[in-house]
Amino acid sequence: MKNQFLTLLTLLLVFPACFAQQPKKPNASEIHESIKKLNFLGSVLYLAAHPDDENTRIISYMANKVKARTAYLSLTRGDGGQNLIGPEIRELLGVIRTEELLAARRTDGGEQFFTRANDFGYSKHPDETLAIWNKEDVLSDVVLAIRRFQPDVIINRFDHRSPGTTHGHHTSSAMLSVEAFDLTNDASKYPEQLNATTTWQPKRMFFNASYWFYGSQEKFDAADKSNMLSIDTGVYFPSSGLSNTEISSLSRSQHRSQGFGNTGTRGSSLEYIELIKGDMPKNANSVFDGIDTSWNRVKNGRAIGKLITEIEKEYNFKNPSASLPKLVKAYTLIQQLEDSHWKSIKTEDIKNVISACAGLYLEASAQHNWATINEDVNLTIEVINRSASNITLQSIVNPNNDSISKNINLENNTKFSFNEHYVIGSKAEITTPYWLTEQGSLGMYKVENESLIGSPETPRSQNVTFNLVIENTTIPFTKPIVYKTNDPVKGEVYMPFEIVPIVASQLAEPVVIFENNTPKQVAVVVTAGKDNVEGTVSLNTPKGWTISPKSLAISIGHRGETKTVLFTVTPPSSQSEVKITATVTVNGTTYSKGLNEIDYDHIPFQTVVMPQPSKFVRLDIIKKGENIGYIQGAGDVVPESLRQIGYHVAIISPDDITPANLKHFDAIVVGIRAYNTVDDLAYKQNVLFDFVKEGGNLIVQYNTNHRLKVDNLAPYKLQLSRDRVTDENAKVTFLDPKNDVLNVPNKITEADFEGWTQERGLYFPDAWGKEFTPVLGMHDKNETEKQGSLLVAKYGKGHYIYTGLSFFREFPAGVSGAYRLFANMLSIGKEDINTEPKLNK
Ligand SMILES: [Zn+2]
Repeated sequence: MKNQFLTLLTLLLVFPACFAQQPKKPNASEIHESIKKLNFLGSVLYLAAHPDDENTRIISYMANKVKARTAYLSLTRGDGGQNLIGPEIRELLGVIRTEELLAARRTDGGEQFFTRANDFGYSKHPDETLAIWNKEDVLSDVVLAIRRFQPDVIINRFDHRSPGTTHGHHTSSAMLSVEAFDLTNDASKYPEQLNATTTWQPKRMFFNASYWFYGSQEKFDAADKSNMLSIDTGVYFPSSGLSNTEISSLSRSQHRSQGFGNTGTRGSSLEYIELIKGDMPKNANSVFDGIDTSWNRVKNGRAIGKLITEIEKEYNFKNPSASLPKLVKAYTLIQQLEDSHWKSIKTEDIKNVISACAGLYLEASAQHNWATINEDVNLTIEVINRSASNITLQSIVNPNNDSISKNINLENNTKFSFNEHYVIGSKAEITTPYWLTEQGSLGMYKVENESLIGSPETPRSQNVTFNLVIENTTIPFTKPIVYKTNDPVKGEVYMPFEIVPIVASQLAEPVVIFENNTPKQVAVVVTAGKDNVEGTVSLNTPKGWTISPKSLAISIGHRGETKTVLFTVTPPSSQSEVKITATVTVNGTTYSKGLNEIDYDHIPFQTVVMPQPSKFVRLDIIKKGENIGYIQGAGDVVPESLRQIGYHVAIISPDDITPANLKHFDAIVVGIRAYNTVDDLAYKQNVLFDFVKEGGNLIVQYNTNHRLKVDNLAPYKLQLSRDRVTDENAKVTFLDPKNDVLNVPNKITEADFEGWTQERGLYFPDAWGKEFTPVLGMHDKNETEKQGSLLVAKYGKGHYIYTGLSFFREFPAGVSGAYRLFANMLSIGKEDINTEPKLNK
């Protein structure tokens, strides 16, 4: 077991750096830095909740200046955030942000780990967070990460003593870290973990203090810092020509999906860390004070440390390969160590240094970026030694563990290229993010294979090992198979080599809404993983729904080709919400997972195969008024959602906001944060108010108080606040039960507030003119009631409505009550309403 774990760990340590993008090609200065790092045996674990929480100044400082093994444990993968660079949300956004963290670590020199906790959205308090996460499981994962990584020092981004002052995930991360510190060395805690790891006691824990935890820079300057260490993270590295703070900005800028581009700074830059557990270092400059970080901490390690010190001193920047004899000697000594934590880590590190000193280039590339089980894969192998050292390629080992003898003498700077083929084993697994293969819960990913818990990615299964004899010593170098191609614009592009199912399918739309009984055609997209796929496509038929035809034959000629087939779906006559999955049957085997590709320049190409049911919703809804003008703000899919239920929605730019244009619309809806993002609205408010005065409806969705472009958000007094209700299940009370928005044309009941997602709403007003009627009351646990989520005012002959309810989240999730309530808001004041109210059953 232990060896298996070490092998896994080894894979994790080595491959993230070369997963798909071009392999690292270190220069002479970088090799020298890596040799220095071989002689440091200490570890720092930085811990927080989300991708982008981490302080890259400290991570880069620890990895590049101190030369410690440094890792960031992010409890979540950031599924709940927004995506500024593309359409991916939820799980696929979590994949992007996982890769952005790995890209950040490739930049700052750290490693990356996770837990199974899912970023389910904002929570105000750790109590709420820990009720939705499975607290025991997340704590177990934190303990496991510490036992595996064996940090001497843990630094928490957040303060465990201040629940309620920041995101509940943040405080929870620190609370779990503090709790884990006292459990990791206790063999009676999570004993099942000890089959694959050992107990471990970190020496110290710190909290990465910052002025924002104190309210202001002045308060922080004045704070007692006797329990803090200060670290100057502004150090300069002549070897790279960069300040540490410049490296950390490059790392931070990898969080492109979050718009976290960051400009580097130069010069001294102090960070403070406050001691939480363990003893205060006597040497104020070192978190490792009192910890032996030399090879002496490993039994029989002293000789290795001495040898590496010599290699470092004698290093020839003009000819790094001169270090090879001693490096190989050190490698041999490391192999003779008893099985230990450091043996496996330093083995991989020194192999990378040996490879770099010899100018080795070892590559196995496939002809496509994917293949299927039982497929014969043709590999192009390239091997070159760019040093005077005597090196022989003894053999290569393919992914099926077949060893192929070669015995090629690798002469200096002579490229050897040849082909090998192998058949992907029938037991090989689909390569996809391991945490997405099963559907998890709101708060947790489901991971069947426990050895994968904590890993940033699914370890590569399709690898080639090159057994080289260097200085009379056989050293194996394992490389994942890659695919590479030449892009006329970008040049050489590397992609990971994946195993995909022979066929994948998914409905084209994740959510389909029916406003009445009219059938809709829905498209199923089928992708073939190999040539000549013949099968039948079908959809599961939930009770009350009708799908025709029952199945459709499909024939796809070429691998990678996609075909679309259409089914007609008829909903039941009453309200219904169901999940429908597309299945393809080929030769008696069913395939029902979707295939998603994610392609951005800053991260490796991602292929995600996962269960992808679509939500089908039959609404009970009556609508009045059909022409809607939509003024876009920060961006939301409300217009598309309203179109799905039959409204005519026209997007109107600020220039189009004229009395003549507006009179064509029954209602104008203002997109989220429009008054924060659209400058020209400052000059259009009076036109919009006149539209209301003449009988129109104006519905304004949430804005924030920060940088409002208008003085008068509404025709009456209206004051925004930071009030929000983050519990999507918070009870909703009807403050004005007779109000039209709760009654016509759709009778709104408590049932309309069931099944909401992520939150009720945000940035509610907390003060308003007497002209407004507050309609709904709600609050989070232990808070006072908030009454500003839906405010209705008559103005002239029309109505002005301000709402912080999160329609922009509920619509794409197909929440029926949100649609019904919004239809009432659009209908208010429309004279021709005479239909019987419809009840949401
Ligand atoms: Zn965060």
